[in-house]
Amino acid sequence: MRVAIEQERCVTSGRCAFTAPEVFTQNDDGLVEVLTERPAADQQEAVREAAFLCPALAIEVKGD
Ligand code: SF4
Repeated sequence: MRVAIEQERCVTSGRCAFTAPEVFTQNDDGLVEVLTERPAADQQEAVREAAFLCPALAIEVKGD
């Protein structure tokens, strides 16, 4: 799995950082930042959930 974000789309809801805190965080402006583009296996379900929950569709998940 590879995770990509479109930070310019982020509306700073924080759902991703709450749902998958080992993969997503927010900068001082509240905008999403990715901690790892290659999440460990035990994080991948949470990453998919975060992408589903993001109200801005700013998270893209590629691969298995
Ligand atoms: S869930 Fe989406 S809109 Fe909210 S902080 Fe994360 S990337 Fe930004």
